[in-house]
Amino acid sequence: MKALIIGGGMAGPVTGMACEQAGIDSTVYEAYDRTADGVGAFLTLAVNGLAALRTLGLSDLVRDKGVDTPSMVAEMDGRRLAEFSFGAPLPDGTRNQTITRADLYGILRDEAVRRGVPIEYGKRLVSAESTPDGVLARFADGSTARGDLLIGADGLRSATRRIIDPNAPAPRYVPLLNAGGYARGVTLPGEPGVMHMFFGRRCFFSYVARPDGEVWWFANPPQPTELAPKALAAITPEQWRTKLRDLFAGDDFPALKVIDATEHIFSGWNTYDYPKVPVWHRDGMIIIGDAAHATSPASGQGASMAIEDAVTLAKCLRDLPDIPQAFAAYEGLRRKRVERVVAQGKRNGDGKAMGRIGRMMLPTILKFVAKTSSRQGWLYDHRIEWNEPVSTA
Ligand SMILES: Cc1cc2nc3c(=O)[nH]c(=O)nc-3n(C[C@H](O)[C@H](O)[C@H](O)COP(=O)(O)OP(=O)(O)OC[C@H]3O[C@@H](n4cnc5c(N)ncnc54)[C@H](O)[C@@H]3O)c2cc1C
Repeated sequence: MKALIIGGGMAGPVTGMACEQAGIDSTVYEAYDRTADGVGAFLTLAVNGLAALRTLGLSDLVRDKGVDTPSMVAEMDGRRLAEFSFGAPLPDGTRNQTITRADLYGILRDEAVRRGVPIEYGKRLVSAESTPDGVLARFADGSTARGDLLIGADGLRSATRRIIDPNAPAPRYVPLLNAGGYARGVTLPGEPGVMHMFFGRRCFFSYVARPDGEVWWFANPPQPTELAPKALAAITPEQWRTKLRDLFAGDDFPALKVIDATEHIFSGWNTYDYPKVPVWHRDGMIIIGDAAHATSPASGQGASMAIEDAVTLAKCLRDLPDIPQAFAAYEGLRRKRVERVVAQGKRNGDGKAMGRIGRMMLPTILKFVAKTSSRQGWLYDHRIEWNEPVSTA
C-alpha cells in the first residue's frame, strides 16, 4: 500500500513514520520550503501526545529539546487563584513538554527522513481525484503523484478538506490574537517549567521560565472582529510592543518587564477553531489533524490530537481489510474525542477575554475548574496501544 501524505507540519511526518511502522509506504508532500520552519512560536505538547509519540519511539527526541511543564498556575490582581496539573507523568517520568515549533517540526521531519519516509518540499496540493486503482494528486508546480490513498494533514486551510467536501464549513474565528516572544536577562518568581497564567484587566498573559533563565511568553489581546491577513501582517513588531505595553499598563504582574526584555516580538496570528467538520473522508481520501478538527490554542492539545490521529490512522490501515473500513474505524475512534477537545479549547479561550463581571466571578470559577481538573483523565490519560489490534466489532 502507498499513501500520499499532504502536509509536512506536525501530523504529516508522524503519519509517515506510523505508516512505515505499520508496513505502509508513504511520501510526504509539503507546500513550503523547509526553511519556513522557524515561524517563531513555541507550544506545549501534552502527555497524551507524548505517549502517542512513544509508540513510535519518538518521545525521547522531543524531551531532549523540550522543557518539563508539569502544571499551570492561574493568577489575578497579584493573587494566586488556582493550580492545575497537566496529568500524571508517563511511567518513565515524562511530563508535558514546552518546545519551540521550529525544534519540534525539525525533529519530526529529520527523523521521518532518517527512517526512510521521503519528504518533498514545494509541493502544494491543488486537486486530487479517485482513479480505478487509487488516488491521483496534482500539485501547483504541475507535477502529479499516484497512491492507494491520500491523507490530508494540510492544516487549518486544508485543500484536501475542500476536495473531499466542497461544502465543508469555514473555520470559526475565535476573537483573540496571539503574540509572544523569548525574554532574556529577567528574573521571575516561580519554579522553572511551570506555566504562569495572568488574567489581566485588558489582556491575558502567560510565561514559562526555562531552567537556563530564558522566559518564553505569549499574550492574547482580544480582537472582536477578524483582521485580514494583510492588515495583521502590516502591524510591525514595534507597534505590537506599544500595543502590548498599553494593554498591560497598571496590571500587577511582570508582563511589562518581560516585554521590555524581549528583543523580537513574534506576533500576528488570528485564532480559529473547527467545532465540526461533517465529512472527514471520501473514496481513498481522508483528513486528519487541524484539517479535520482545529482547536483553539487555549486547549493546549492541537499538536497532541494531530499526533494521536496519525498513530490511530496507521493502526486502522494496518488492521482492517480495506481502506473504506479503515477510514470508518478511524472516524469511530477519533471523532467524539477531538470534538470534545475543541469544545473545551473554546471554553478556555472565552475565559481569556472576560469582561468586568466575568473577572469578578473568575476566582470562583477557577477554583471549581481546578477541583474538577482531576477528572481530566479522559484527556491526559488517553493511551494508544500499538500492538493491540483495531477491530470493527
Ligand atoms: C498560536 C498557536 C499556538 C498553539 N499552541 C499550541 C500548544 O501549546 N499546544 C498544542 O498542542 N497545539 C498548539 N497549537 C496548535 C498546533 O500547532 C496545531 O494543532 C498542529 O500544528 C496541527 O498539526 P497539523 O499537522 O494538522 O497542521 P500543521 O502543523 O499546520 O501542518 C500543516 C502543514 O501542511 C502544509 N500545507 C498546507 N496546505 C498545503 C497544501 N495544499 N499542499 C501541501 N502542503 C500544505 C503547511 O505548510 C503545513 O506545513 C497552537 C497553534 C497556534 C496557531
